[in-house]
Amino acid sequence: MKWGIIQDDTCLFCNEHETLQHLFFNCKVVAEVWSKLLMYLHEYHQAKGWEEEARWLVGKGTCKSFKRKLRRLCMTTAIYHIWAARNKRHFEAVEQNCNSIVSRCVADIRACVGS
Ligand SMILES: [Zn+2]
Repeated sequence: MKWGIIQDDTCLFCNEHETLQHLFFNCKVVAEVWSKLLMYLHEYHQAKGWEEEARWLVGKGTCKSFKRKLRRLCMTTAIYHIWAARNKRHFEAVEQNCNSIVSRCVADIRACVGS
């Protein structure tokens, strides 16, 4: 390791090959995070990938602005906390399980919407 860059492309959550698509959507651990987080928000949606999620965030016109805001918060907090958990696992050898990541996301979402 040089300059804090991870040179091994093994997923730190499941030991499969890590790509951006895998790390943020396809990893079985991350998929569980998305599932629980979306269930918490009463969103009947399955996180699939970057392009699909970008379309979901826009909401196709029928989505009200508060719901759209929640979707953006969900996406940004999930991406942030998945990335943070991955780096914490690598650089500090601290493991956060799915429920811990989801709890951090929910706390951030609640702080942003004020409830
Ligand atoms: Zn994985």
